[in-house]
Amino acid sequence: MKKLEVIVPCYNEEESIVLFEKRMEEIFCLLPEYQCSILYVNDGSKDDTCQIIKKSSAEKDYVNYISFARNFGKEAAMFAGLSHSAGDFVVVMDADLQHPPELIPQMLDGIKEGYDCCMARRTNRKGEKIIRQKLSRMFYRLMNRITSVEMLQGSTDYCLMTRQMADAVLSLHERERFTKGIFNWVGFQKKYIEYENKERIAGESKWSFGTLFRYAISGITAFSVTPLHLASAIGIIVMLAAFLYALYIFVTTLFLDTARTGFASIIIILLFLGGMIILLLGVIGEYLSKIYIEVKQRPVYIIKDTSLKAKDGE
Ligand code: UDP
Ligand code: MG
Repeated sequence: MKKLEVIVPCYNEEESIVLFEKRMEEIFCLLPEYQCSILYVNDGSKDDTCQIIKKSSAEKDYVNYISFARNFGKEAAMFAGLSHSAGDFVVVMDADLQHPPELIPQMLDGIKEGYDCCMARRTNRKGEKIIRQKLSRMFYRLMNRITSVEMLQGSTDYCLMTRQMADAVLSLHERERFTKGIFNWVGFQKKYIEYENKERIAGESKWSFGTLFRYAISGITAFSVTPLHLASAIGIIVMLAAFLYALYIFVTTLFLDTARTGFASIIIILLFLGGMIILLLGVIGEYLSKIYIEVKQRPVYIIKDTSLKAKDGE
C-alpha cells in the first residue's frame, strides 16, 4: 500500500487543528487504497497548539508531530516536514483550511495521469485586502520577468508531490528558503488544480505587510541576480547623461556666452546621485546578507520534541 503523508506547518493554530483534523479524516476515508498520515510541524507556537497535536498523536497512530525550539518560520517548518517525511506521496498544506482538503483526491488523480506534482492555484483572492492583491500581482509579474522560474498568478505552496520530487526539493540546501520558487526550480511535470480562495477557519493570518515585503525581496534575490545587473546599467546611463550635459554646457558657454548659475541644479543632481548610490549599495547589501547567512551554515530549524522516533521504536 502506498503511503500518503500530509505535512502541516502550524503556528498558533489551536483553534484550527481540531477542525482541520476532522476534515482530513473525512478525506482519508475516501482514499482506502492509501496509507494516510499527518505530520504536524509546530513552529514554536505560543498557544496550546503543541499540547493539542501531542494529544492527538498519542491517541492516533497516523498522527505524528515535530516541535521546534522556537518560531523558525513557515519555510523552515515545510523543510523540516519534508526532511522527516517517509511518504511515497507528500502533501504540504496549511492548518487553517484555506487549502481545501477535498482537492487531495483530484491531486492523486493527477499523479495517476503521470504528473509528478499537483499544485493548487487560487482563481481569486476573495477576502484579502485590495492592496495585498495588487502587490501580489505585481510580485508575480516581476518574478516571471527577472527570474528563470515560472510562477503562475495565484500559485500557492499547497501541493502533492512524489517522493522523487520531494527528494529533489530537499537536495537544495539553501538556508533562506523560498519554497514556491524551489518547487518550480526543480522542474518535473506539474498540474495546476484551481480553487476559489477561502477565508481562514479560525485565528488570524501571521503575515503582516512588512513580513510579506521581506518575503518578496528574499524570493527575488534567491532566484535572480538581475537587480545587480540593473545597478551597473543604471550607473552607465547616469554617466552617459552627465557626459552629454557637460558637452551641452561646454558648447553653450563657448558659443552663446550665457552666464551659468546652477546652485539649484547642482543640489538636485547631488541629492539624486547620493540617493541612487545608497539604493544601489542596498541592493548589493541584500545579496551580501544572503551570502552571510549561507556562509554561517546554521541549521534551518532546531527540533525540541518529536513523536517520530518514539513511534518508530515501538
Ligand atoms: N505558519 C508557520 N510559521 C509561521 C507562520 C505561519 O508555520 O511563522 C503556518 C500557519 O500556521 C499556517 C500556514 O503557515 O498553517 C499559513 O499561515 P497563514 O495562514 O498565517 O498565512 P496566509 O494564509 O495568510 O498566507
Ligand atoms: Mg492562511
